[in-house]
Amino acid sequence: MKALVLKEKNQLAIMDMAIRETFGPDDVRIKMHTIGICGSDVHYYTHGKIGNFIVKEPMILGHEASGTIIEVGKNVKRLKAGDRVCMEPGVPDLRSRATMEGMYNLDPAVVFWATPPYHGCLRETVVHPAMFTFKLPDNVSYAEGAMVEPLSVGLQAVKKANIKPGDVALVTGCGTIGILTGLAALAGGCSKVIITDVIDPKLNIAAGYGMLPVNIKKQNLQKVVDEVTGGWGVDAIFEASGNEGAIATIFRPLCPGGKVIFIGMPVNPVPVDIVAAQAKEARIETVFRYANLYPRALALMGSGKIDVKPLVTDRYKFADAIKAYDYAAKPEPRTVKIVIEM
Ligand code: ZN
Repeated sequence: MKALVLKEKNQLAIMDMAIRETFGPDDVRIKMHTIGICGSDVHYYTHGKIGNFIVKEPMILGHEASGTIIEVGKNVKRLKAGDRVCMEPGVPDLRSRATMEGMYNLDPAVVFWATPPYHGCLRETVVHPAMFTFKLPDNVSYAEGAMVEPLSVGLQAVKKANIKPGDVALVTGCGTIGILTGLAALAGGCSKVIITDVIDPKLNIAAGYGMLPVNIKKQNLQKVVDEVTGGWGVDAIFEASGNEGAIATIFRPLCPGGKVIFIGMPVNPVPVDIVAAQAKEARIETVFRYANLYPRALALMGSGKIDVKPLVTDRYKFADAIKAYDYAAKPEPRTVKIVIEM
């Protein structure tokens, strides 16, 4: 079948790939419709690796996806041919200890799309376990379906933050994940979300959602936080930039006893100010992907509580997928999420 293949660093091709897939009784076959481009996909394209995950053989990209079911295995009751669905890209070993303990995202044996050595889903069809395939509500489009994956990261962060009604949150970094985390925080009960970046068009999109944008090149973040919280500090900080400078001062705007959740992934190890954290008895959490959150992300989209449509800023046809990736490597400031339609 036709697929978008990363042959090696900086070398993409749309080509025929023979993919060995077994179709079991608990699987579904999906005709792909919309696939989002994630920062990780672009990083594999431009660097050929992320940390210890190295592209050694040609790999199909893509893991944020939606499509239509064309075949169901004989045990599958919850889904049928014709259903519009989105898919969790990571499938753990269901008998593993991590899965049994409710942390299947941390199963060392997880098979995750477009993470070497596993192929992604930027191709005509995929076979996927029904358990990790979710029906889209009628009012949720395929493009929104492809956004369930990054929204689930935001929801995981908010779950880890144990948000209480009325909390004030700060999100550092106004990319797709930052904005989605801000939306998840608002949906989770935050009364206010302050969000930082250095790119105004992105901050304007966040402002359109009722978040308080702070361009840290032009404004003093601490002053804004003091004004909003009466000098107390924010209850939760979601670090979604992965930026060394942001991380160096991350505890400053936090209230005593507050929480910092690290979402962004710095390319290299970065220093963290432990004493600054101790002085506030900060609670520190980290997130890696998500677990059990697709149904909640879809419920929030279906109910209208979270509207991700304004975040899908660029659409490409599959025939132009390489063009889409080249643009994603050097996007204009207004771009949030680029999607490819089959
Ligand atoms: Zn992603």
